[in-house]
Amino acid sequence: MTINIGVIGTGAIGREHIRRCSTVLQNARVVALNDINRDNCQQIVDELTPEARIYDNAIDLINDPQVNAVLVTSWGPTHEAFVLACIEAGKAVFCEKPLAVTAQGCMNIVEAEINAGRQLVQVGFMRPYDSGYRALKAVIDSGEIGEPLMLHCAHRNPEVGDSYTTDMAITDTLIHELDVLRWLLNDDYASVQVIFPRKTRKASSHLRDPQIVLLETTKGARIDVEIFVNCEYGYDIQCEVVGESGIARLPEPVSVQLRSAAKLSTTILTDWKKRFIDAYDVELQAFINNVISGEMTGPSAWDGYAAAVAADACVAAQTSGGIVPVTMPARPAFYR
Ligand code: NAP
Repeated sequence: MTINIGVIGTGAIGREHIRRCSTVLQNARVVALNDINRDNCQQIVDELTPEARIYDNAIDLINDPQVNAVLVTSWGPTHEAFVLACIEAGKAVFCEKPLAVTAQGCMNIVEAEINAGRQLVQVGFMRPYDSGYRALKAVIDSGEIGEPLMLHCAHRNPEVGDSYTTDMAITDTLIHELDVLRWLLNDDYASVQVIFPRKTRKASSHLRDPQIVLLETTKGARIDVEIFVNCEYGYDIQCEVVGESGIARLPEPVSVQLRSAAKLSTTILTDWKKRFIDAYDVELQAFINNVISGEMTGPSAWDGYAAAVAADACVAAQTSGGIVPVTMPARPAFYR
């Protein structure tokens, strides 16, 4: 069975996902494209998907009976309306993060999905599909290190553009940790705090960089995440879990160990796209498989909501400097 996919938003990640569907993944073909900039779509038709039809209106793409499933890879503020339209049309939808730009927007999607009576939404959080995080979770779940007590994490980028703002360290960067750490620990957040160390001279004048986010989970585990987006040296993701009887650490990406010029070295990646490239493949293949099987697995609309609630608390904590509670309703039985 081949799933006919429509893609809304043919910018950087949309184009990557279209390439994946066309050249790497199985049982999927891109048949419909929409972007606010029609030239983007035309370029993709010319280079990757000659048979795809270009739509001037995203809602028409969603409602085309030929389209079985939709990828929403447009600008974040457009996601909520497109995902709601997919649910209304009864179509499976893979939505890049954020599911919506506000927690209330995510809740609107949760409620629409529950009212529709079946899960249709997968959120594009790819880290649970990364082989390193999966291996780390397997160790935690095996009980080999006992109950997790503390996590030390870091999310470092070599540099960011001038348009990157202090709150984006939460909403664009930390958001991946906020999702994957809940999944890793099978836990939710109870409170957050953000503290600002001495600022790097490499950051633009309006950006506070680095930041340290302190999270407490409902089971009492403590997590510190360093976000440092002008670290210069590379794109570096770290996660160390301290348990009652041992420590488990996220594996480093595979890199040849080099002995040369009186040095022993391995390469550190600088491009975020390369760090999780395999995880993106696995994530999107999982979505296609879910559409075929009719059963959604992976990051759900509820997970998108939970990440948004925690992100809102972190942004509030950036301003207040205090400990901010993370308050969420109980997880609906629909998502258990
Ligand atoms: P991008 O390069 O700016 O692409 C977004 C595309 O959507 C652009 O072509 C944009 O057109 C188009 N667009 C904007 N409004 C639209 C509308 N109303 N209808 C249809 N198309 C519209 O951004 P990106 O880097 O691909 O990011 C897209 C989304 O993916 C963001 O939400 C981002 O957070 C997420 N993302 C996730 C990951 C991940 O690791 N999971 C990585 C990267 C991005 P214009 O350029 O003309 O505005």
